[in-house]
Amino acid sequence: MKIQAAVLREASSHLGIETLTLEPPRNDEVIVRLVATGVCHTDIKHSEPGGAVPRPVVLGHEGAGVVIATGSGVTRVAVGDPVVLSYDYCNTCASCLAGARTYCHELRPRNFGGKRPDGSSALSSEGSFIHGSFFGQSSFATHAMAYERNVVKVAREAPLELLGPLGCGVQTGAGAIINAFSARAGCTVAVIGSGAVGLSAVMAARLIGARRIIAIDLHDNRLDLARDLGATHVLNAGRDDIVREALAITGHGLDYVLDTTTLVPVMEKGMAMLAPRGVFGFVAGPGGSATLPLPLGHMLIGGRSVRGIIEGDSASETFIPMLVDLFMQGRFPFDRMIRFYPFAHINEAIADSISGRVIKPVLRFDQPAATS
Ligand SMILES: [Zn+2]
Ligand SMILES: [Zn+2]
Repeated sequence: MKIQAAVLREASSHLGIETLTLEPPRNDEVIVRLVATGVCHTDIKHSEPGGAVPRPVVLGHEGAGVVIATGSGVTRVAVGDPVVLSYDYCNTCASCLAGARTYCHELRPRNFGGKRPDGSSALSSEGSFIHGSFFGQSSFATHAMAYERNVVKVAREAPLELLGPLGCGVQTGAGAIINAFSARAGCTVAVIGSGAVGLSAVMAARLIGARRIIAIDLHDNRLDLARDLGATHVLNAGRDDIVREALAITGHGLDYVLDTTTLVPVMEKGMAMLAPRGVFGFVAGPGGSATLPLPLGHMLIGGRSVRGIIEGDSASETFIPMLVDLFMQGRFPFDRMIRFYPFAHINEAIADSISGRVIKPVLRFDQPAATS
């Protein structure tokens, strides 16, 4: 079938909307007609020069839409189901078998390789190869080829156009608190960076009953929103000595610190805020071969730890419907971060995300005319 997709070609960070051909689904594949798709920093990182994903490529990994075709082996979803698309995993490695799919041994090739595991692509342009399968979806397009295993069925009454970011950014932040940290009522949490991931973590910290929730950012407007969404304290890293303030607020430091900035000097401050037995988590790498100096005495005495967290350790097929439920009850208002753009304005949406004007841009697709 013919689809419209935003294609990133060589030596450009501009996405051009083109007509591509999408193959019919194979045995375990599902075609989803997108209703909307979020823009995540990982899309932006890979659209910049030096991005690791091979080009030409269709990015996009926060898709939400409706299943329109399924491969012959697909049983878990059916045509007409509303779904959110999430990351891909192999389901056969030691991590997947242990239920830790976000640490799948094949995470990198399956999500950033630009191809199916057999090296093929479902996408082409007049016969020439276009890389796809970005996070097992490539959802900067009117239609995406996903797998049965990475589409998550959601409630029909939920507003599908809002739900795409649950597939990456929102589950990353909320899952870091709920799954990775297993944070409990009464704990203390600091979240560094009040973008979509950080604010999702703040909302989750409120949900689980954290006693102190410190949001840290450089922009007062984001800190105001963090306060609205559950932060008990806010610190502006441009003005405040964030380590000293965090220690003053908590007495002996924080049980959990989540970094969403990937800035090494900031991450060092985050580790310095930890209470004994505290955990410092980070959700993205600064890129390349960057290293983070560990204050060994501080980490050892007090048994503090540091860990990387991918996709909030989330098992998407249970975690995303739970977040939808909490949203529908008004207890997880992640829609406060979202601004919609027409799909055709994708480059503007990316620019607004980079400049910080918008926390979570979501691209909306024209819907087919209703038939009576
Ligand atoms: Zn695996
Ligand atoms: Zn993402």
